[in-house]
Amino acid sequence: MVDDTDPFLSLDPQGADWDRLRVTGHHMLDMMFDNLRDIREHPVWQPLPDDMRSGFRHASVPEHGVDAATFGEAFRETVLPYSVGNRHPGFMGWVHGGGTPVGMLAEMLAAGLNANLGGRDHAPVEVERMVVRWAATLMGFPETASGLFVTGSSMANFIAVIVASRAAKDGLSLRKNGVGGRSLVGYAARSAHGCVSRAFDLAGLGSDALRLVPLDKTFRMDTAALKAMIAADRESGLEPFLVVGTAGTVDVGAIDPLDTIAGIAAEEGVWFHVDGAFGAMAALSPRFKEALSGLEKADSLAFDFHKWAQVPYDAGCAIVRDPAKHAAAFAQTLSYLSREDRGLAAGAPWFCDLGPDLSRGFRALKVWATLSVYGTHRLGKMVDHCCAVARHLAERVASEPTLELMAPVTLDIVCFRLRDPALTEEQLDHLNGEVVKDVQESGLAAPSTTRIDGHLVIRAAIVNHRTMAADVDRMVDAVLSFAAKRRSG
Ligand SMILES: *Cc1c(COP(=O)(O)O)cnc(C)c1O
Repeated sequence: MVDDTDPFLSLDPQGADWDRLRVTGHHMLDMMFDNLRDIREHPVWQPLPDDMRSGFRHASVPEHGVDAATFGEAFRETVLPYSVGNRHPGFMGWVHGGGTPVGMLAEMLAAGLNANLGGRDHAPVEVERMVVRWAATLMGFPETASGLFVTGSSMANFIAVIVASRAAKDGLSLRKNGVGGRSLVGYAARSAHGCVSRAFDLAGLGSDALRLVPLDKTFRMDTAALKAMIAADRESGLEPFLVVGTAGTVDVGAIDPLDTIAGIAAEEGVWFHVDGAFGAMAALSPRFKEALSGLEKADSLAFDFHKWAQVPYDAGCAIVRDPAKHAAAFAQTLSYLSREDRGLAAGAPWFCDLGPDLSRGFRALKVWATLSVYGTHRLGKMVDHCCAVARHLAERVASEPTLELMAPVTLDIVCFRLRDPALTEEQLDHLNGEVVKDVQESGLAAPSTTRIDGHLVIRAAIVNHRTMAADVDRMVDAVLSFAAKRRSG
């Protein structure tokens, strides 16, 4: 006999405990709403105090639980004030989205539903199909394109490399025999994100199989060099299979000449993939139609909703023009996952046929919520505004005698640095790096750094819908004042 009288056997509250948990839940919701509403009153970032860090490092696995309110209190004290800071308008480091309260609510709904979108026949799967179709059409792909939500563009780029290699000549045999014995090579500009080279590594092709194409003076792929490199590789018996163009490079926000690359890929019979991690979102603004021209010709596209589209982490998206080629790269037949003509196991192809994951959460819900509540018109205006704030920053930099702009501003990224004719290159790199850390630690703003032509530069990416012109001015003021302090001290 099973004894199931103990009320703690199920993890749900019992009786009046539901009401207590409901009150706790409402408090948590209020805590997050207040925190978001008052975000400007907090520092952009502050380091986790030593005692709290040590608390995390030494905490042991709880054997007996506490109530949810106690847990919520621990979160409020030890996590909430010490997060990355990307929700704050002063955050301009790396390329992080700011999130929205609507996205937060959608995450809660998705968790409450606890759906597994690996497959089967249910509404969440239809929602993901709908949002993938929307994403494809927004990017100029046909409605019939295939796609899925993944963690981010790192995974979406990896999926594209897998699909492209399986779509190559005799590529399907790779699934059984592995890539050994083949000499597949692909191409991306030097400015391509590190995850593209890692995708080659993970795919077993080796990171050397990704050829890095030089840049032209505007930080875009030099397409004459691309053609020459493909020819030279063919000459030496290698098998070019893929060209990756980037829409919005991670360092300066340049857009590769996608239309020209599309033409070369078609001529050469190789797969054309676009990494549009954040930049593809510029498709929401008519202003960038020309710059992005050619994106719609890609065989596949990787981009993120968690960056410029402000969907909470994580929400990457992979789109593949030809659904058959997409499924051919991942589909498997396994008896415990058999697909039926009706019932819950109907509805093939399943999302587990389109990527490496079997169990998958309902990422599509927060994307649906974001598109449905804000609409593409408003999101497009937000994208335009971020670019206008970036141009404002570039003008401010140009007007400051101790600053110089280090790359043209195409989208929402501005690279600049402190200059000083009295300092060596090495000293300048050091000064710029230290000032960025000073500014971050001040809590006033959070730019990051990158290297351009060997120089360490300050990089501000305006990806947060909350960032206004006054915020970038405050960041520049902080850079100037910390630099002055360092010079005098
Ligand atoms: C951010 C970024 C990536 C990686 O995307 P994740 O979502 O962080 O995995 C790839 N490419 C570019 C151009 C990026 O900006």
